[in-house]
Amino acid sequence: MKKTFLALFPLFLAYQAQAQSPDPTLMADAEAIEEQVIEWRRDIHEHPELSNRETETAKKIAAHLESLGIKIQTGVAKTGVVGILKGDNPGKVVALRADIDALPVTERNDLAFKSEVKTTFMGSETGVMHACGHDTHVAILMGVAEILSNHKDKINGTVKFIFQPAEEGPPPGEEGGAKLMIKEGVLKNPDVDAIFGLHINSATPVGTIAYKPGGTMAAVERFVVRKNFSYAH
Ligand SMILES: [Zn+2]
Repeated sequence: MKKTFLALFPLFLAYQAQAQSPDPTLMADAEAIEEQVIEWRRDIHEHPELSNRETETAKKIAAHLESLGIKIQTGVAKTGVVGILKGDNPGKVVALRADIDALPVTERNDLAFKSEVKTTFMGSETGVMHACGHDTHVAILMGVAEILSNHKDKINGTVKFIFQPAEEGPPPGEEGGAKLMIKEGVLKNPDVDAIFGLHINSATPVGTIAYKPGGTMAAVERFVVRKNFSYAH
C-alpha cells in the first residue's frame, strides 16, 4: 500500500519536472497522509458498489475533492467524478485515473471492514466486494489529490483527476466505463497530454513498481455459449 502510493509520485514528477528529482516535501506529505488513505480504503472496501452503481463512492470522492477546493464535475459516464487542479505555473495537462467499481463477489474473511453488501446480479443473489483493489485506487488518488492541491505552486500545468466507473464492464444493455467517459469528453477541455493509470497487483512483490507505456491490464472480453445451436446451411 505505502509503496504503491508513493509509486505515483516519481512518475508524475518525472513528467512534470522534466526529470528533476522528486521534491522531498512531497514524499514527507505522502508519509503523513498514509493513515488517512488506509482509512478511506477500508471505508470504501466496506461499502462496495457495482459498475454504474457507484453513487455513494462518487459522493465521497466529490466531497473530498470539493473540500480541497478542486473544481469538480460529477455524473460523468453516469457516476464518474472528474477534478481539475490548476497549477500556479503554465504547462501541460496530466491526468491521473482511478477506477471505482467493485465486483459481484462474496467476501469470505473476518476483517473488521469486510463487505456485508448483498445484491442480485444477473438474476443471482451475490455479495459485492472490492475484489480487484479499486478501493485502494480510489483512496490513493484521493490522497494524491490532497497532497498536490497543497503544492499548486510546484505544479507546472494542470492535473486532471479521473475517477472512472464501470471498469469491470457496465451491466448488460448499459453503456459505461472509460469508453463512455471519453465519449462524454473527459480527455478534452482541457485536453489531456498524458495520462497515468494505476493498478495494484498481488503477484508483484511488495516494494516493486512495475510500469509499462501504452495499454496494460486490458478489460475482459465476454462471450455467450448457447445450447442447441446449429449452423444454418
Ligand atoms: Zn481492477
